[in-house]
Amino acid sequence: MLTKLFLTFSLFGLTPLWANLRVVTTTEDLRSITQILGGEWVDVTSIAKGTQDPHFIEAKPSYLVAVSRADLLIAIGLELESGWLPLLIRGARQPKLMPGETGCLTVSEAITPLEIRSQADRSQGDVHPLGNPHFMADPERVFLVAELISKRLSQLDPSHTQIFSKNLTAFKKQLQEKITLWKKKLGPYKGTKVIGYHMTFNYLFKYFGFDVVGFLEPKPGIQPTAQHILSLVDTAKVQKVKLIVVESFFDPKPGQTLAERTKSKQVLIPAYVGGDEYSKTYFDWMNTVVNELEKNLK
Ligand SMILES: [Zn+2]
Repeated sequence: MLTKLFLTFSLFGLTPLWANLRVVTTTEDLRSITQILGGEWVDVTSIAKGTQDPHFIEAKPSYLVAVSRADLLIAIGLELESGWLPLLIRGARQPKLMPGETGCLTVSEAITPLEIRSQADRSQGDVHPLGNPHFMADPERVFLVAELISKRLSQLDPSHTQIFSKNLTAFKKQLQEKITLWKKKLGPYKGTKVIGYHMTFNYLFKYFGFDVVGFLEPKPGIQPTAQHILSLVDTAKVQKVKLIVVESFFDPKPGQTLAERTKSKQVLIPAYVGGDEYSKTYFDWMNTVVNELEKNLK
């Protein structure tokens, strides 16, 4: 009977009621939050690992298999995954996962991005013309992302709506408590001048009142050059930059050179959930980021 029912569901492309939703996310941040919100009723895997730069992921056949079996594909959007996700979606050949369908969720829909570029900037090859896609480091925007994900889980699996809703409330409560703690830790350092590598932590810096005065990348997506580092030495000295904050998957040498020539210090921090051994969940990761910043500012 079960086999027969399963076949019937499979034939119509529906998920049987007793099976978990199979969710594939593009990043580990999304994986962690979806896991918290879906609990035991979802099986979630992430394509990019936290130790990888999500702009540059190779569209491997194993990812294609995972996507083709998914009930729901969750992406960041704002072109973060534009180099590889469209290939996987096309290759998976699942109508329900096509952009605009219920099986495809782009969480940037929930938020207003920072740093939307003008048409003129776009023509110069900026990697994030539609706005900065690194908003998962902004706890306030994560409330909105979590609400969107929870709503979509309920749409795809209405039988567990109450559970998803309860998990969302618990997640929001925990996030609010953590925000209070993080603000307490970084509050004394408001106005600290920092230099980043890529624009990965811009939302976080803005949220906690840090002032980003430059980037090791001469332009987003372009690797640091000796000439650019030289120009940053002046900036760092004039602006009295305290920290050079570098995503741990990038080459630490340019930041090291800059730190040695100025009175600043380089700190390497995981850019995503799973970026180091301590950052297994969204909360763990944000704790690590906040603690690393605090430790190096004390
Ligand atoms: Zn980026």
